[in-house]
Amino acid sequence: MTYFRDNIEAMRGYVPGEQPQGGKFIKLNTNENPYPAPDAVRRAIEARVAQGLAKYPDPSATAFRLRAAELLGVEPDWIVCGNGSDDVLTVLTRAFVGEGQRLRTPTPSYIFYRTLAEIQGAACEEIRFNDDWSLSDEFITNTDGLRLAFLPNPNSPSGTCLSPQRVLELAEALPCPLVVDEAYADFAETNCIDLVRRCEKVIVTRSLSKSYALAGLRFGFAVAQPHIAAGLMKVKDPCNCDALAIAAATAAIDDEAWLAETRGKIITSRARLTAAMRTLGFAVVDSQANFVWNVHAELPVRPMFEELRRQRVLVRYMDYAGWGDGLRISVGTDEQLDVCLDLIKKLV
Ligand SMILES: *Cc1c(COP(=O)(O)O)cnc(C)c1O
Repeated sequence: MTYFRDNIEAMRGYVPGEQPQGGKFIKLNTNENPYPAPDAVRRAIEARVAQGLAKYPDPSATAFRLRAAELLGVEPDWIVCGNGSDDVLTVLTRAFVGEGQRLRTPTPSYIFYRTLAEIQGAACEEIRFNDDWSLSDEFITNTDGLRLAFLPNPNSPSGTCLSPQRVLELAEALPCPLVVDEAYADFAETNCIDLVRRCEKVIVTRSLSKSYALAGLRFGFAVAQPHIAAGLMKVKDPCNCDALAIAAATAAIDDEAWLAETRGKIITSRARLTAAMRTLGFAVVDSQANFVWNVHAELPVRPMFEELRRQRVLVRYMDYAGWGDGLRISVGTDEQLDVCLDLIKKLV
């Protein structure tokens, strides 16, 4: 006897990267930031705790929206906050895609989009990236009745970016909103915030988990034209962001110097990791994110992942049907990367 809807019964559920709760691991598997968050975050949380937590938080996270709007050059009513950007992606899917309807995403890419489609009982259409990680016009072909498209930019696992010009072309050709998932945009050379102004179909999502070193806090947001944002506000849980997260996230984005410095360190280490992996015989595409995707033409990489794990170094092993497998390695500190690279050197 099952009480679940057929689509819930049939789905497998999203499997996140391993988060060991004990033991000492070098964690390079879920693209967390290896550096501590700005100190202002701790102070903001302490100050907010001192005010007490008996009352509900601000349902629309006004303090964060005001500061984010200033930094991004939009108005506060263009911003919708969430309990991590995954929560925002959930709101977007619930808002636009009903049972039996169609949602589209490229592949290989972020697997959570498929989970969101499955929860809705919707069809998830996966369009293959080209071998050079560009996206063909297949993405904008046969779109009758398409309700939503997701495009992570930079993409995971590749770390590659489509240009804003290409993203705009795709958005203009689609009959539905195009969610540009910019979880990693702070590490990239370009982003698509300006496109939101130019095209109502473009919705950008951002996360504080990666670039602001706050994956444990849970805060993300969408940037959309105000009539779209207003619709999303109807769908989100009333108080989806807690008071501590709102205070901390506002303090984090306020520290622009911290972001510039941390971003610089990660981009420098990313270049080092890329070069070292290429020297070890891996094919590595240039990344615009805080991770690097490593494929090996001759050697199986799964045993390497397993041996690294035995040595307490976690990287992400990904195997995409019809595409192949590889190791996604997050850009840790130089010390962490040295340990990882020394181990891989012994395995190739
Ligand atoms: C990490 C990640 C997210 C989720 O970010 P949270 O804010 O931690 O929920 C969303 N999209 C992509 C592509 C990611 O890699």
